[in-house]
Amino acid sequence: MRQHEIVEYLEAYARSFEPPLHEGVRVVNLSSSESLAGGFELETSAGKISADQVVVATGGYQVPRVPAWACALPGHIQQLHSRDYKNPASLPDGDVLVVGTGQSGCQIAEDLWLAGRRVHLSVGNAPRCARRHRGKDVVEWLERMGHYDLPVDQHANPDQVRDKTNHYVTGRGGGRDIDLRQLALEGMRLYGSLTGLQGGKLEFAPDLKRNLDAADQVYTNINRSIDGYISDNNIKAPEQPDYVPPWHPEAEVTSLALAKSAIRSVIWSIGFGVDFRWVRLPVFDDAGLPRHARGVTAVPGLYFLGLPWQHTWGSGRFASVGHDAKHLCEAVLRRAARRSVGPRERPRWRDLGL
Ligand SMILES: Cc1cc2nc3c(=O)[nH]c(=O)nc-3n(C[C@H](O)[C@H](O)[C@H](O)COP(=O)(O)OP(=O)(O)OC[C@H]3O[C@@H](n4cnc5c(N)ncnc54)[C@H](O)[C@@H]3O)c2cc1C
Repeated sequence: MRQHEIVEYLEAYARSFEPPLHEGVRVVNLSSSESLAGGFELETSAGKISADQVVVATGGYQVPRVPAWACALPGHIQQLHSRDYKNPASLPDGDVLVVGTGQSGCQIAEDLWLAGRRVHLSVGNAPRCARRHRGKDVVEWLERMGHYDLPVDQHANPDQVRDKTNHYVTGRGGGRDIDLRQLALEGMRLYGSLTGLQGGKLEFAPDLKRNLDAADQVYTNINRSIDGYISDNNIKAPEQPDYVPPWHPEAEVTSLALAKSAIRSVIWSIGFGVDFRWVRLPVFDDAGLPRHARGVTAVPGLYFLGLPWQHTWGSGRFASVGHDAKHLCEAVLRRAARRSVGPRERPRWRDLGL
């Protein structure tokens, strides 16, 4: 789906059952109610409300990540996070350094490159995948193969997979691969992971070759697994030639003197963290992440929805969040029935005059 189609889809979804939406209202504090009836008290930017049950659906991409040392960059360099990137014209003239090669970093670097900007790209350890393979979108193959339905507890690395960066690829122009080697061949400057700033010089780890090779390996592995599925199921699909890398780094560049470079802007594309400090309930681990089983926490009536890998790989995606929502709805209705609270009863927004 294109950007406007996503927006239209969400608007049509809201219209389909007309929930009592209160846009632009921030919850600043969520705590247990002290009343005998239990439930929760919420302080919001529009006043206080109470609720019998609460689903926290504030997403997994809440707080833009920027390294602490970023404030030491010279003042003539404009910095922004990928969250705030709009278009190439919104940046000052001069070269742009994009840091990070998840979906945002790669798509922004390509956007700038296509607009004729000079781009420096710090390549991290994000994997990549093909847009299409053997005649179909790779996402469609993976969906058919059941990858998005794999529960996290059946994954080979359940503890690490939640932190993994998604594969880079783009939907631009109907969808295509992003091949950083090709962009390097055309003149984009690639570096390894950005590690810091010393004496006015940006420092990079000597891991560019390793990161490009690792991303290609994931790309090839995914294609191979699709090939295996096609052959196991006797599916007719066009053949596809193997990827041949068009460029290899000659040497690792580990330092870049900012004063001698034409870099005038830096776009931090190193992801997002979460901040649940406003939820004052004992459901978080040492890293501040909610402890839950498929979104159901140990505090009765408190749930989470929309977290990456909440239950499956599909959990943090539009396509599969509905499965998790259904699971939570059932839990909410069961609890409401036990407490004899009708499912049609709404949180008490009337208190706010909304
Ligand atoms: C770069 C990137 C690329 C992606 N690509 C895809 C893709 O191709 N396909 C796909 O399916 N998914 C993709 N996703 C994931 C998709 O965007 C998320 O799964 C989806 O947005 C989750 O929806 P959500 O409603 O759970 O959370 P969000 O869309 O994050 O919405 C959370 C909402 O909660 C609000 N909020 C936060 N805190 C509070 C508070 N205290 N009080 C009140 N409101 C609050 C926020 O303002 C926000 O409006 C991508 C995500 C990123 C970052």
